[in-house]
Amino acid sequence: MKTTLVWFRQDLRLKDNPALSVAVRSADAVVPVYVWDQKREGRWPLGSASKWWLHHSLVRLAESLRRRGSRLVVAAGDSTDTLIRLARATRATSIYWNRRYEPSVVSSDRDTEAALAANGIAVRTFGASLLFEPEDVRNKSGGPFQVFTPFWRHCLSLRVAVPERLPSGPFAAPKRWPGSVGIKGLSLLPAVDWANGFDPVWNPGEKGAARALRRFLADGIDSYATDRDRLDRADRLNRDRPCHGGTSALSPHLHFGEIGPRQIWAAVKALSRDSGVFPSGRGAQVFLKELGWREFAYHLLWHFPRTPTEPLRERFAAFPWQRDIAARRAWQRGRTGYPIVDAGMRQLWAAGWMHNRARMIVASFLVKHLRHSWREGAAWFWETLVDADLANNTLGWQWSAGCGADAAPYFRIFNPVRQGRKFDPGGTYVRRWVPELARLPAEYIHEPWSAPKESLAEAGVALGSDYPLPMVDHAASRQAALAAFKSTVRSRPG
Ligand code: FAD
Repeated sequence: MKTTLVWFRQDLRLKDNPALSVAVRSADAVVPVYVWDQKREGRWPLGSASKWWLHHSLVRLAESLRRRGSRLVVAAGDSTDTLIRLARATRATSIYWNRRYEPSVVSSDRDTEAALAANGIAVRTFGASLLFEPEDVRNKSGGPFQVFTPFWRHCLSLRVAVPERLPSGPFAAPKRWPGSVGIKGLSLLPAVDWANGFDPVWNPGEKGAARALRRFLADGIDSYATDRDRLDRADRLNRDRPCHGGTSALSPHLHFGEIGPRQIWAAVKALSRDSGVFPSGRGAQVFLKELGWREFAYHLLWHFPRTPTEPLRERFAAFPWQRDIAARRAWQRGRTGYPIVDAGMRQLWAAGWMHNRARMIVASFLVKHLRHSWREGAAWFWETLVDADLANNTLGWQWSAGCGADAAPYFRIFNPVRQGRKFDPGGTYVRRWVPELARLPAEYIHEPWSAPKESLAEAGVALGSDYPLPMVDHAASRQAALAAFKSTVRSRPG
C-alpha cells in the first residue's frame, strides 16, 4: 500500500494543485498535512494580518478536504522533523509538495529533501504558484531580466501550462490518521479585536477566491485599464462584493495559493473572443500584465535573494535615511496631514489591504518626504497586509524608493495633493477613510490647510486638533530628498 503525504504551504486549494492531484491519482492513501514552522520563514515570520488570513484559509481547506472524505493534519514545529515523524506514523513512503521561492524557504526545502531522502522517503515537488519557473526565464545572455517590459515580452513567447485537473470523488484515506494539533491549536488569531474590520471585507479560502475572480471577470475586467488607478472606485471593499469596481482584490487569495495564476490565466483567456494566445481586450491585457508584475517580482527574488533587505542598486546602500519614531508613527497611523496618504494608511489598518495607487503614494511619502528607509515601510506592510508577500512587497518598496529593478527614478517625487486630485477627484476615498474631513468641499479635500476658515468651520474641521496640519512641507521635503539623493550618487559611483 502506497501512502503519500501532501505538504500544504502556500497552496491552500484543491483545484490546480499538482502535488495533491498527483498524490490522489497515484497513492493508495493520501495524508494532507500543514506544518506551522516560522523558523523556515527566516527573517520574515508571518505578520499579524497574514496570520488572521491563514487561520481562516486553513479552516476552509480543512472543510474542503472533509467533503472529500479526507482531513487536514495540522502540526507545529520543525517541518523536517514533523514530516519524518508523520511519515513514520502513517508508513508513508513519499511526500509531495508545491514549490515556494522565498530564499530562506528554498534553502530549508533543500535540507528537508536531503533529510527525507536519508530516511528513505521519496520527494516530488511541483510548480503551482507561478506561470513560469523563475529558473527557466533567462535573457539572451542567460542572465536574469532586470527590466519588466523585455521580461514580459519574453514570458509571452513561452507556454503557460493548463491548470491541473483534480480527480473527482473521495480521496483515499489512511487506515489510521495521525494526531493533529488542530487549527485553533496554532493560535493564529490576534488576541485584541484589531482584525474585526477584516471580517466584513474578506472571504478567505478557495471558494472566496473563485468568487472574487468570477465577479471581477463579470464586472471589473472590461474597465480595468481605465479604472485600476481610481481610488474613488475602490472606496468600499466588501466580502459580498469583492470586486469593487477597480481591481480584482485577488492578492491575498493569490498569496496563500487559494487560487493559482494558471487558473486566472485560463479564465481570462476563455473570456477572449480572440483565439490567439493573448486575450484581445485591453482590460484583459492590462490585467494579465499585472500578473506579469507578480511573476517579475518572483523572478527578481529568485535571482537576487538579498533584495528583501538590501537595495538591488547597490549605491542606495549609502543613502542617508532618517530615523524619527514620531514621524514613523504619524505615517503608520494615518496622521501625516496629507489626506490621500492618511486615507491609504487607515485603509491598510482597517482592512488589511490597500489599493495599489495608494500603496505607491504612501510609500513615496515615507521614503521621499520623510526620507525613512523603504525597509521600515516594508516591515509595516508585512505586519498589517493580509496579502503580505515577500516578492511583491520587496518589488513594490524598492520600486517606490527608486533602488530596485525598473524602479521609479528617485527624483520623481509624487505630490500627494496632485495624486489625490487625479485619482480621487471627488474625494470619495478620503471621505471614506478620513471621516473627520468628510464634509469638506471637494476642492479642499486634498489640501484642507488651503481651505478658507468658513469652509473649515462649516465642515466642522479644526485643523491641528481634529485633523493634523501637514507634518512636512511638500516643496521643502522634495528639495531635501533630491539633495540627499545627489549626495548618494556622488559618494558612490555606479
Ligand atoms: P489587481 O490590480 O487586481 O492585480 C491582480 C494581481 O496581480 C494582484 O492580486 C497581484 O497578485 C498582482 N499584482 C498587481 N499589481 C502588482 C504589482 N505592482 N506588483 C506585483 N504584483 C502585482 N502585492 C502583494 O500581493 N503583496 C504585497 O505585499 C505587496 N506590497 C506592495 C508594496 C508596495 C509599496 C507597492 C507599491 C505594491 C505592493 N504590492 C503588493 C503590489 C500591489 O499593490 C498589489 O498586488 C495590489 O494592490 C493587489 O490588489 P488587487 O489584487 O486588486 O490587484
